[in-house]
Amino acid sequence: MVEVKRCDWIQGKPDYYVHYHDHIWGKPEYDDQALYKWLILECFHTGLSWQLVLSKEAHFSEAFLDYDYQLVAQFTEDDIQRLKNNPGIIRHEGKIKAAINNAKAFMEIQNEYGSFKEYIWGFTDGQQVVKQTDDHLTRSDLSDTITKSLKAHGFKWVGSVTIYSYLQAIGIINDHDLACDFR
Ligand SMILES: [Zn+2]
Repeated sequence: MVEVKRCDWIQGKPDYYVHYHDHIWGKPEYDDQALYKWLILECFHTGLSWQLVLSKEAHFSEAFLDYDYQLVAQFTEDDIQRLKNNPGIIRHEGKIKAAINNAKAFMEIQNEYGSFKEYIWGFTDGQQVVKQTDDHLTRSDLSDTITKSLKAHGFKWVGSVTIYSYLQAIGIINDHDLACDFR
């Protein structure tokens, strides 16, 4: 049997995390609803572990209506209270409000650029940034630039570290180890 080689950091992690590493992390994502999904999950990720966020993904999906940003943008104060009382997700009022605010900003980007995909992939002319070393970066000039732009477009909870992680999630940055079979 041929041994499958994966990034060092995924060794010993639970199956759902390995699935994320194998099938999502570093793979180009072009669907706007999925681009919104990973953006708000990364906002919730801020200051916490990604494993924790991923472990709650099914609850997030239910709470945020399959990440339908058009519906999330219409969430009211009642919805915020409901989410704050939902033990399945991360009950952080600022992040919950950011998810709603960012749904609105996301649609403004769509109006301006045609799609969020056109906007976000435009920063690299549609190209993936593939790392050539086994260094583990947590931010870069690219994530700084995109963070600045997102903030100018009204997005909240989008620091450069959060956005670097987002760019890995949606495959604009491919940071798989050089020896990883999923690179
Ligand atoms: Zn890998």
